[in-house]
Amino acid sequence: MRVLLVEDDAGVAEALTQGLRGSGWTVRHAATGRDALAALDDDPAVDLVLLDMGLPDHDGLWVCARIRERSGVAVVALTARRAEASVVAALRAGVDDYVVKPYSLAVLQARMEAVTRRSGGRPAPAPALDAGFSLDVEARRVRTADGEVALTAKEAELLAALLRHAGRPVTRAALMEEVWDTTWIGASRTLDVHVGTLRAKLGADVVETVRGVGYRLVPRGER
Ligand code: CA
Repeated sequence: MRVLLVEDDAGVAEALTQGLRGSGWTVRHAATGRDALAALDDDPAVDLVLLDMGLPDHDGLWVCARIRERSGVAVVALTARRAEASVVAALRAGVDDYVVKPYSLAVLQARMEAVTRRSGGRPAPAPALDAGFSLDVEARRVRTADGEVALTAKEAELLAALLRHAGRPVTRAALMEEVWDTTWIGASRTLDVHVGTLRAKLGADVVETVRGVGYRLVPRGER
C-alpha cells in the first residue's frame, strides 16, 4: 500500500516514514500542502494520504478539500486540535478518520488499515472534471474566464458537493446531508433555492435538474 505523508515537521516525518516502511508501506513525503497536491497529481494511485492539519502554507482543511476535488483517496488527518469543532470541520472537509497527536504508531496504523479496507470497495475516482471554473470554498469565490463571482457559504458548499461528484447526478438527500447535515425532507426547498441562486450567478446550464434524482454539475464540454 502506498501512503502520501504530508507533514512539515522533519523529525516527525522521518520517524513516521521509518515506522511505516517497517510495516510494509511505501511512503512518499511532502512537507507542504502545495507539495502534497503536486505529489497527488503526479501519482494519483496513492492508497492513503496521512495529512498533518497544521501545515506552513495552507490549512489542512483547505488541503483536504483540494484533495477531495481530485480523488476519493482515503485521508487520515493528523491533528493536535482536540476541539470537537475542529474534528467536525475535518470530517466535513472529507477526512475519513483522524488521529490526535500524540498518537502511537500502532494506533495510527490500525486506523490507516481500517480506512483503506473501507475505501477498498469504493468506485475509482471519476476523472477530473472540467467545470469551466475554479472554486475556493473558504473564500467563497468562483473564478471563471470572465472574472470572479462571490458566493454565500452554503452556495459554495453546495457547489463543492456537486464538484465532488464530478458530473454525476447527486441525489437530493445526499446534497441535503452533505451541505445542511439534514435529511429532513421539509428542508429541501432550501436546496432548490440555493440551486436557483447558483444558476443565477454562474449560468442556468451549469447545474442540471435530474428528474426524480436531484442535481448534476454539467461539465463545460456538455453545456
Ligand atoms: Ca505541522
